[in-house]
Amino acid sequence: MNKFWKILSSTALAVSLLAVPTMSSAQPGPSPQPGDNLPINGYINYEELQRKLAQIAHTSKGRVSVETVGYTNQGRDIYKATVGTGDKVVLIQSEIHGNEKTGTVAILNILQKLGSSNSPDVRRILEELTIVAIPMLNADGSELARRANEMEWAEVVAAFPQLANVSPAWNYYNTPGIWDYDQNPGFDVNRDFNPDLNYVPQAEDFPGNSSAYGWYITPEAQTLRDVYKELKSEFGNVDVFVDLHHQGFPYVDGTDDRVTLSISGKFVTDPNGPGGEKYAEYADNFNYDFSRQLNLAVYDALQAKGNSVFTNISLYNQNIDLPGTALGSFALNGSGTVLFEISGQTQNFGQKMKGMLVKTVETGLMGIIDGVTDGSVHELNPEDYEDIPLSSRNPSGL
Ligand SMILES: [Zn+2]
Repeated sequence: MNKFWKILSSTALAVSLLAVPTMSSAQPGPSPQPGDNLPINGYINYEELQRKLAQIAHTSKGRVSVETVGYTNQGRDIYKATVGTGDKVVLIQSEIHGNEKTGTVAILNILQKLGSSNSPDVRRILEELTIVAIPMLNADGSELARRANEMEWAEVVAAFPQLANVSPAWNYYNTPGIWDYDQNPGFDVNRDFNPDLNYVPQAEDFPGNSSAYGWYITPEAQTLRDVYKELKSEFGNVDVFVDLHHQGFPYVDGTDDRVTLSISGKFVTDPNGPGGEKYAEYADNFNYDFSRQLNLAVYDALQAKGNSVFTNISLYNQNIDLPGTALGSFALNGSGTVLFEISGQTQNFGQKMKGMLVKTVETGLMGIIDGVTDGSVHELNPEDYEDIPLSSRNPSGL
């Protein structure tokens, strides 16, 4: 155990004492995370994001374009940044959970680099790829330093009157005793997706559950869906979708090493395998091997950093079936999909550790970007994915 994790472990212990488990790991689903009510220090907030995006767009002299593609339920802008003119699409998203901010900073660093460097490598990336980033999808949750968005069930019913007589969606947080959700309810936006991108909420589909599809009832999920649909109609396919998250503090299976980052390409039961019959209509699109190759590109890029915290990478829980997640729904639509789960909630770290975790996400993302740019990702053996060590304690909150 190196110094980095010694410091982290004492923090982790302090956090675990505060933890109030609200749902067993065997039952993946919305669960307010320990630390949800702690202040966020030293990570980017919404106002800083606006300033930083404007600065990146300005200094890139038109290379990075930034636009508002939608609004959160509380009316904040949802920003989309685009860089590159290639025909392969890489869509990267952060902060669908508002207190998971490492990825947001990593995205901004990459946009800055791709927007200002004139190296041959960067020029080639921009020729081959169109990189689209949504750096802070759930800005309302971000401002409240919590997982869920800020929205009441009554607002859903006002928008969809056909839901007037049903029980609220299962991913609605309004329970007394769990942080402030009884005073200020919201939804886990990452259970509000449906592989039918034109789905309209139906009363009989509520309240739903973790193994059923979501509904696009939140403006945040609607906005991401709209971005995805537009890219799909313009390019034919969204080749890659990456979703950036935070997890707890698992170990690399078979070691005493704390996991720095868990990754995954598996979010739903394979439509072409046992138990996948319910996804039969998506079987032809589904490209699990490409998802596995993309994850290997992340893994290999980090292993290349040599023996360090950067190499403590594990697979996230592989026994999940969550079709209402953005990753699950977009995988069924044919995107190669990658989950990043960096260890620890945003609130747990000092500046130095935060910097290392941002670097870990950046390195992994560049592994994908480089591998798709030069096509080397297609030469990786998908079966090697199964050799990446598992996490010894499997969080499953996604
Ligand atoms: Zn998350």
